[in-house]
Amino acid sequence: MFSAFNFQEIRPPVLEDASLFTRSLGESTEVVQKQMFLIRREEDVYALRPEATASVVRAYIENNLDKTSGFAKLYYLGPMFRAERPQKGRLRQFHHLGCEVIGSGNPLVDVEVVSLAEALLKAFSISGYRIELNSIGCPEDKKKLSEKLHKELKKAVRALCDDCQRRFETNRLRILDCKNETCKDAVAKLDIGDSCLCSECGEHFSRVRAGLENLGIRYEWNPHLVRGLDYYTRTVFEFKHSGLGSQDALGAGGRYDTLVADLGGPRLGAIGFAFGIERLLLASSQGEFDGPQGKLTYVISLGEEPARQAALILKELRMAGIACDTDYESRSLKGALRRANDLKARYVVILGQDELHKGVVVLKDMSSGQQKEIKPSELARELAEV
Ligand code: AMP
Repeated sequence: MFSAFNFQEIRPPVLEDASLFTRSLGESTEVVQKQMFLIRREEDVYALRPEATASVVRAYIENNLDKTSGFAKLYYLGPMFRAERPQKGRLRQFHHLGCEVIGSGNPLVDVEVVSLAEALLKAFSISGYRIELNSIGCPEDKKKLSEKLHKELKKAVRALCDDCQRRFETNRLRILDCKNETCKDAVAKLDIGDSCLCSECGEHFSRVRAGLENLGIRYEWNPHLVRGLDYYTRTVFEFKHSGLGSQDALGAGGRYDTLVADLGGPRLGAIGFAFGIERLLLASSQGEFDGPQGKLTYVISLGEEPARQAALILKELRMAGIACDTDYESRSLKGALRRANDLKARYVVILGQDELHKGVVVLKDMSSGQQKEIKPSELARELAEV
């Protein structure tokens, strides 16, 4: 899917200078304050990356990609680390599948990125999600929003949870997405809408919305949607899934038009998102993605000489790109067929002494139950056709 959208893979390192995250995510964010795994070595402090956007931007600047390719469309896949209390859907080591588009502020890029995220969910056969969208505007608009929250929540501060009382001083926008019931009530009374957006950011947001509508992508505008990290500007979005319980975010993303310059690069617009792979797995209806299992051929041999022949068949099928596996436990035919069933094998190849003498194998279609005898040399062609 990433190839279809013309993205290239980038593999940022798992370890980064801790200061990269402090500078980009923001000193007062939860991730930096409470969730980074730090490694001290002599004078240096490294962090196990809590996310990859900052790393991708660092790599983009260090490798002068702005000069060589300018506009970059990059995706990544790998483990992230956050010191959180583990629960269903929340792990200390989890995996992101994400992407970043660096080099443009065009609202149509936002539309492409959201449509890519949706295309991925469709490719994984995940349904039942909803897209929430908002614009938090440029840094000046964020300041205006923060001041508005100061004015409107000043009298209610004591009633907020401990975290939000702290956020009121250090990171006011985060009060908007607090899960605590009292804070939610206080926030529900606020009338925010797009009142803090300047005319340029308002226009940008309208064009993003129009672009999504043009593609028939359904979303809800949630004026209270903010993201947990400081670097976000303008468009922010979240994919939520009701089947996930309290950790209902499948993935999220947004624009970060000031981050490249903040990390020492040129002034360039950028946007990205990340899905949590474990949550994608929880939400996918079969509990697993369509892996090779759906097309697996399981080779069963009965006896020593048949096993030697089976090894040659496996080698040939695999060289032909056909996913196959075999039974190394010397199970009975019944036991091996049960194993093939557990693995959801599409076909089973059976090779016993009789077949060996006749110079054939039995090819069984596991969905129809039909079977036929076939020469081993014809197997690869036959299976490649299905
Ligand atoms: P974030 O960078 O916090 O916006 O995370 C993006 C996505 O990663 C979330 O929507 C989740 O699907 C996933 N995610 C974040 N933190 C965790 C975690 N501790 N365990 C599992 N998945 C997570």
